[in-house]
Amino acid sequence: MSDCIFCKIAAGEIPSTKVYEDAEFCAFKDLNPQAPVHILLIPKKHISSLLELQEADATLMGKLLFRGQKIAKEQGLGESGVRFVFNCKDDAGQTVHHIHCHILGGARLSDSFG
Ligand code: 5GP
Ligand code: ZN
Repeated sequence: MSDCIFCKIAAGEIPSTKVYEDAEFCAFKDLNPQAPVHILLIPKKHISSLLELQEADATLMGKLLFRGQKIAKEQGLGESGVRFVFNCKDDAGQTVHHIHCHILGGARLSDSFG
């Protein structure tokens, strides 16, 4: 998607602080962190949100979750705890319409779901 900010980050056209990259995924620090560790993990393939996921993307997303687990542990969150979040569409507060997994930790996080 030519006008997608996360496609541009994945392509290196917009600068970001990447903590992981391979042919299928990249992970980078959130510009406006909500926790001491706040990383966004994305597939390079443009998918709008988890609600648009196709069955053909299941393997890709399984790999993404596995990579998320690795990144969380590398960030030192394996024992203290970590939150993985996918916001989907407006009521959930999705602002960037390229599927992304928030990886949050490094402090006691709020219990709030609202
Ligand atoms: P959402 O609300 O869509 O689930 O999360 C989008 C996230 O992307 C937000 O936490 C926001 O701070 C982050 N974000 C938006 N634009 C940029 C950007 O250009 N660079 C980085 N690193 N993060 C961004
Ligand atoms: Zn995109």
